[in-house]
Amino acid sequence: MINGIKPLDRSLRWGMVGGGGTSQIGYIHRSAALRDNTFTLVAGAFDIDAARGRAFGESLGVAGERCYPDYQTLFRQEAERADGIEAVSIATPNNTHFAICKAALESGLHAVCEKPLCFTTAEAKELAALSKQRNKIIGVTYGYSGHQLIQQARSMIAEGLLGDIRIVNMSFSHGFHNEAVELDNPSTRWRVDPKFVGPSYVLGDLATHPLFLAETMLPELKIKRLMCSRQSFVKTRAPLEDNAFVLMEYNNGAVGSLWCSAVNCGSMHGQKIRVIGSKASLEWWDEQPNQLRYEIQGEPVRILERGMGYLAPRALEEDRIGGGHPEGLFEAWSNLYRRFAVAMDATDRGDKTLLADFWYPDVDAGVAGVQWVERCVESADAGAIWVDFE
Ligand code: NAD
Repeated sequence: MINGIKPLDRSLRWGMVGGGGTSQIGYIHRSAALRDNTFTLVAGAFDIDAARGRAFGESLGVAGERCYPDYQTLFRQEAERADGIEAVSIATPNNTHFAICKAALESGLHAVCEKPLCFTTAEAKELAALSKQRNKIIGVTYGYSGHQLIQQARSMIAEGLLGDIRIVNMSFSHGFHNEAVELDNPSTRWRVDPKFVGPSYVLGDLATHPLFLAETMLPELKIKRLMCSRQSFVKTRAPLEDNAFVLMEYNNGAVGSLWCSAVNCGSMHGQKIRVIGSKASLEWWDEQPNQLRYEIQGEPVRILERGMGYLAPRALEEDRIGGGHPEGLFEAWSNLYRRFAVAMDATDRGDKTLLADFWYPDVDAGVAGVQWVERCVESADAGAIWVDFE
């Protein structure tokens, strides 16, 4: 159980690039990083508009001289201070991730980077190599992977309760962009512009989330090949898709499907994962994250509730309040940031024993997401053909 006691005897000095006052995702980064006192926010280049970024940073309590106009100045000037930042989170539009993440590692910082990590597998592998070479981690914020019931599913599958895994059915399909809402919304506008998001919209923005939930629940399952069909129902978004279907074949003979969409009218979020084995199935839905459906063939459905003593130790480890009370996205993110801090500290101390069996969405998760999107686009643009994953 997490009760507020710090998992480390110190708090990492932390900065942010992006995530400013008008951003969608900045607040949850801060809320998650600061909740368990594992990070202290001391610096940032919070906004593309330097003056707005400085005013925002100061409103958070960051000293004015440590609210920098851009990430290059942030990294350079912080490196010159004895009390400079040790880690940085990158919460800017997608086209900037590669350069900022690379600069962070080169400045000797650990990084938490938004997804997608970058646009091409070659770039992602370059970041992975640099992270290894500099001995600094990259954490990727696949938020719900930190939810206890995702860890519960991982434990149950590893225990063999589902039997042989046959089918993984995933979706992330909301309806918020069924019309060209980007005309009035700057935060959506860049999401449908290849200059900012590279080769895809919903495949990178949405699909990589349930894809990583599957990787978390089923670490042994590896994609062999995939086929993707993508559509732009709001025509001005072409060539970027606002809807896509992906079929996958895995190394063990299992098959998977993933539907991602921003035009699924009426759906709030629709992030679901159903894992089907030869004996039983598990299903989790982000709109009811505290319940995990466990369906054994021929028996009544069981609903496993978060925080209950019958769950696996792994799922109880990060319980913050006990069963009956809901925990959701903010707690899942806090669990991830807590893990990022532990991994950063262990890396700095060279604690290989701890790191050998310590899970968090790491740089390999970032690489896999980028490679998956790249393959999907390749398949779709060649007329929805099967393409090898590797
Ligand atoms: P946004 O457009 O709402 O905000 C972007 C922020 O970055 C703004 O504060 C902007 O001023 C700042 N910014 C832009 N360029 C900058 C630069 N060069 N230097 C410093 N600051 C800069 O975007 P958002 O919705 O918050 O998304 C940001 C990132 O987070 C994207 O990569 C997106 O894919 C990701 N995201 C992830 C999740 C998740 O669940 N993990 C959810 C939403 C968004």
